Amino acid sequence: MDRFAYIQVETPAAALAALARHPQAVIKAGGVDVLDLMKERIVTPAVVIDISRVADWGGIAVEPQTGALRLGALTSLAQLAQHTEVQHRWPALGQAMANAATPQIRNMATLGGNLCQRPRCWYFRQETYPCRKKGGSRCFAQAGEHRDHAIFANYTCTSTHPSAAAVPLLAYDAGVEMVDRTGTQRSLPLARFFVAPERDVERENVLRPTEFLTAVTVPRPSEADASAYLNFKHKWSFDWPLVEVAVVLRREAGLVKDARIVLGAVAPVPFRAQAAEHILEGRAVDAELARQAGQAATRGATPLAHNEHKVTLLAELVRRTVLKAADQLPAEDEVMVV
Ligand SMILES: Cc1cc2nc3c(=O)[nH]c(=O)nc-3n(C[C@H](O)[C@H](O)[C@H](O)COP(=O)(O)OP(=O)(O)OC[C@H]3O[C@@H](n4cnc5c(N)ncnc54)[C@H](O)[C@@H]3O)c2cc1C
Repeated sequence: MDRFAYIQVETPAAALAALARHPQAVIKAGGVDVLDLMKERIVTPAVVIDISRVADWGGIAVEPQTGALRLGALTSLAQLAQHTEVQHRWPALGQAMANAATPQIRNMATLGGNLCQRPRCWYFRQETYPCRKKGGSRCFAQAGEHRDHAIFANYTCTSTHPSAAAVPLLAYDAGVEMVDRTGTQRSLPLARFFVAPERDVERENVLRPTEFLTAVTVPRPSEADASAYLNFKHKWSFDWPLVEVAVVLRREAGLVKDARIVLGAVAPVPFRAQAAEHILEGRAVDAELARQAGQAATRGATPLAHNEHKVTLLAELVRRTVLKAADQLPAEDEVMVV
């Protein structure tokens, strides 16, 4: 790792001032990803601004007027996983956070850092491979090792988006709030936060280098809504998901009025499986409908030579997550190891 200057800030004002003085600085929250990137020499900052002690950008609150959830960007994954109201009202988010990484990492890692972390493609993470994400002209995974890589939209870059938090948050139609070094604030739906490789292969989101992510807001589901998250991994102890799915069902009189199904670990950005959502709309969930939704979720997949298995896993995981949201999944099918 190269030498760098380290600035620890404790207030939003000090964070903005530090970034105004050092616009090329790298921001560190929990540091789980950014320190890896520095050790791997993928980023080599002269200055690191550590925001992990900015209390104003942490915390979990339920807005009294709207019942919406407001999550500080510095909230840890463990805090999210353990929060009773999150578990009760936004179970897909609680389930995703409880299943991410390891207990130690969940204590360190923050929500903002989880949404902004860089992909785990082994070619991107190796200094010696000048892939497109690093300004090169090739995607080495396309003709190389890609068993865990993208099965959708994988023509420019085959990495998958690594954020478990993004999957349920997109399904709940969350928004993000940002502030730049001059103090100017902006907010966006999370659906407009992520950037596909065809738009800009060297970044995964619209956050500018001179901006902080400060909060995530999540609308309150109604009493009749139901939601769930599941993933498939190779092993029980820590592992990255092979595929992950969040389902939110808005229901009226026992029928699905509106469905949101979000897929993770299958494309360079998390995205909605709209064909599967349409299958559910206006119908009552049962085993056959869930199976059809699973099949529909794989439409448009373009697997590579060695990751066709992810298509099969995805169909099965969507089927199970729809049933779980509808409270119809047999307990033995909750097993997420393949
Ligand atoms: C062994 C292992 C297993 C893992 N398994 C999973 C998993 O199953 N699911 C999963 O989702 N993740 C997993 N992760 C990744 C881990 O969850 C992320 O690295 C972590 O969430 C990043 O959060 P952080 O606070 O440490 O971010 P940092 O490392 O501090 O930052 C990450 C990036 O976000 C930027 N950033 C952070 N906060 C802000 C902010 N507020 N404003 C602007 N920019 C910001 C940083 O500049 C940096 O680019 C795993 C990691 C490891 C090491």
